[in-house]
Amino acid sequence: MRSFPAGLSRAVAALVLAGCAASAPRVTPAAPLVTEDSAVVAPRFAAVAAVRGAVNLRVVYPPDGATIVARDSTFIFGSVGTGDARLVINGMDVPVLPNGAWLGWLPLPPRDRPTWSLVATRGADTARLVRRMVFPAARPALPDDGPLRVDTASLRPGTREARLAGDLVRVSIRAPRNASVEWIAADGSRRPLHHSLSLGVGGGDPTQWTTDVEARALRLAGRVEVVRGSDRVTLSTPRVALMDSAGPRYGVVGEVAPPPTPFAPDSDRVISARPVASGGTYKWFLLPGTVVELTGRSGDMVRARLDRDLEVWLVGSDVRELPVGASAPVRVAGNARVVARGEWSELVIPMAERPAYAVEERGDEVVLDLFGTVGNTDILNLASVDSIVRHVSWSQSGRERARYTVALRAPLFGYAVRWERGALVLRLRRAPVVQVARPLAGLIIAVDAGHPPAGSTGPTGLYEGVATLAISERLQRLLEARGATVYMTRTTAEAVPLGDRPEMARRAGAHAFVSIHLNALPDGVNPYAAHGTGTYYFNDRAVPLARAVQRGMVRRMGLRDLGINYDNLAVLRPTWMPSILCEGAFVMMPDQEALLRTPAFQEAYALGVAEGLERYFRELRR
Ligand SMILES: [Zn+2]
Repeated sequence: MRSFPAGLSRAVAALVLAGCAASAPRVTPAAPLVTEDSAVVAPRFAAVAAVRGAVNLRVVYPPDGATIVARDSTFIFGSVGTGDARLVINGMDVPVLPNGAWLGWLPLPPRDRPTWSLVATRGADTARLVRRMVFPAARPALPDDGPLRVDTASLRPGTREARLAGDLVRVSIRAPRNASVEWIAADGSRRPLHHSLSLGVGGGDPTQWTTDVEARALRLAGRVEVVRGSDRVTLSTPRVALMDSAGPRYGVVGEVAPPPTPFAPDSDRVISARPVASGGTYKWFLLPGTVVELTGRSGDMVRARLDRDLEVWLVGSDVRELPVGASAPVRVAGNARVVARGEWSELVIPMAERPAYAVEERGDEVVLDLFGTVGNTDILNLASVDSIVRHVSWSQSGRERARYTVALRAPLFGYAVRWERGALVLRLRRAPVVQVARPLAGLIIAVDAGHPPAGSTGPTGLYEGVATLAISERLQRLLEARGATVYMTRTTAEAVPLGDRPEMARRAGAHAFVSIHLNALPDGVNPYAAHGTGTYYFNDRAVPLARAVQRGMVRRMGLRDLGINYDNLAVLRPTWMPSILCEGAFVMMPDQEALLRTPAFQEAYALGVAEGLERYFRELRR
């Protein structure tokens, strides 16, 4: 299940809805958006097969008592067990497909009666069902008059915060805009808080009062005072611990993996670091065993300094704090070499301790930044024959940052960063040799049948993991017929952990990783306006593959073209091969769920992917 494009009008929704309800629906999708292949005739698939039986009312989504986060409308879906029943939800008619499936996009019931009341009828048969919902608590209103009200839950800083003594910490509270708010330190000194209006800077929330205070002033308990007229509300501000009260602190990120053995091959495990403490995306990936300076805490998150110009946030349970007095890691990058091997070349940089690093691809260059490192490479050995590495240069791009720039002789196909025998190794992968007539011949393609764990379920109970395996098996056959070797990350109904899948593909030497999924939406998003086919990537190098496969799927399935999307997904982050995730159709859409049960549509999905892979490798530059 993933995100969707904005701006598709309600009119489109109405059109699609009308189409399904009006006639014995031939599942003719809304006219696919024009693409280069628009010459292709829109595929036609069998109509939804009629089901007749007893009225059997079922709601698949939402589960009873679910918390629904939506503005004014949301969806509910399920089945009535027979295609000739009528369904009414909270007094509104919801179309039923010939197979009994239904999907309602309905205005939310009032907050004081958060229930869906469903009635299904056919002749004298009637089935009723009530589905309860929970709406998140609304933010308390803070009126300009009446008794003084303060949003006590909004007080910041929260508990469990730690910073360096000189760090500025935000003190904030939500209170009426016409009150006055102060922070009073333990020593009695006072500091006013302000809101955007009072500062004359427009646009912000006029009830959000803030000021910034040094952490050392918050190590002792202070308080926030909100006053209006004779009303006064006082709240204690939690203490902020000081990370550097006993000098700098260090921690080890992740546990050092044991050296690889035939039974426990090498691992790609890295620990993700984020730019912000809450809701942060994954941006940096640290090798297990990397030592970092710890400069802050916020709840379960720990702030780490990679060097003087970069601080990141890590999950606290991924960091083992070293005792007081532990000294800083010393990283000096020594004499380096480039070793040219069959499928890749390796830049090997010896140093005493694992550095945090970042790799950036810039056209025909790869830039490797080593944080907290001093470069001291006097000699750098290159292979006399190397079809991917032209040369390597290095610079000290910051007092604590060494930069190695690899000039490429050919486009990079993939890379991996490892720590091996006291050296940081940047492995640079060459593109495979491709036969233009049979572009997939001799290649290894990893096909990843999405889920379990997790996964969505359709209105009549089709589980995403069942459909993705069926489609993946068809894709396997199509790719093998085109000369590829296929590595399946899942071949049974058993769950395969998310993190293991790309690693299995890497170990299999895959040249591409394709994950097969079916889409669904978050509450409050109109499925009739947002359904279609989409493809996801994380590494820029996967964009051409994403485009080629997206085009193939739209061509073969004929659903709306939702384009390709950058998304920070676990299976897409590895960099050894181009990796994409396909959301070919929406299992929550009754008509698409019905299609996904048919061999013809499953085959169309698989064929679209296979043709996209062929196109990508045929056009691959070496
Ligand atoms: Zn999925």
